Amino acid sequence: CGIVGYIGKREAYSIVMEGLKRLEYRGYDSAGIALYDGADLKLAKTKGKVIDLENRVSNEISTNGHVGIGHTRWATHGVPNDVNSHPHYSNSGDLVIIHNGIIENYESIKKELINRGYTFHSDTDTEVLINLIEDVKKNEKVKLGKAIQIALNQVVGAYAIAVFDKNKPNEVVVAKLGSPLAIGMGEDEFFIASDASPFLEYTKKAIYLEDEEMAIISMKKGVKIRKIKDDSLVAPYIQELKI
Ligand code: GLU
Repeated sequence: CGIVGYIGKREAYSIVMEGLKRLEYRGYDSAGIALYDGADLKLAKTKGKVIDLENRVSNEISTNGHVGIGHTRWATHGVPNDVNSHPHYSNSGDLVIIHNGIIENYESIKKELINRGYTFHSDTDTEVLINLIEDVKKNEKVKLGKAIQIALNQVVGAYAIAVFDKNKPNEVVVAKLGSPLAIGMGEDEFFIASDASPFLEYTKKAIYLEDEEMAIISMKKGVKIRKIKDDSLVAPYIQELKI
């Protein structure tokens, strides 16, 4: 299972797709991608291999866009099929998430969200998390990063996530507990991946998130890392990779 993301000056599609191929060794049963082209959030996903995803993309969506997140899934909640593949939208269609890991208390959260009128299309724990984030964002009237932080503090489990909000198209928010997540630091561009292999050809500067850290990756403000539990700022430790 793997995560790849890009935000910056280049076209995201081939960076994300090639990155997913580099992460294939981690094992997976489905693959998906979301791209934002400045107006529309486009999504393609499928059970099967990255090559199947490429075929689906060429039939279903245009590949332009400077923001992209891609995922290879190893199913834990919900069988491997197209609908359960990531990315997952929130109910409004504004937010989109990719997730590696398990949300252990997803059932009780899902019940509460259903009581509040949310509907679910997949059987995944991940779709519960993105709607919890949306619910917090609306109810508490907070920004995306804060909503993710509040939501993650209600969650038990393990995760590496990347979240994109089409109302905030200059940033991607990531968070980690248990599953790996690296951020590649380029010039006016940022990469996200489960390990550095998807972005090594573009930059050797990397931040490895620690457990219980989240990062707001912003085209305008750079990378801001906070502890999920107590909101304290963490000074980014940028490593110079020697590979
Ligand atoms: N628990 C999530 C799912 O089953 C993510 C699985 C993964 O790590 O790829 O969809």
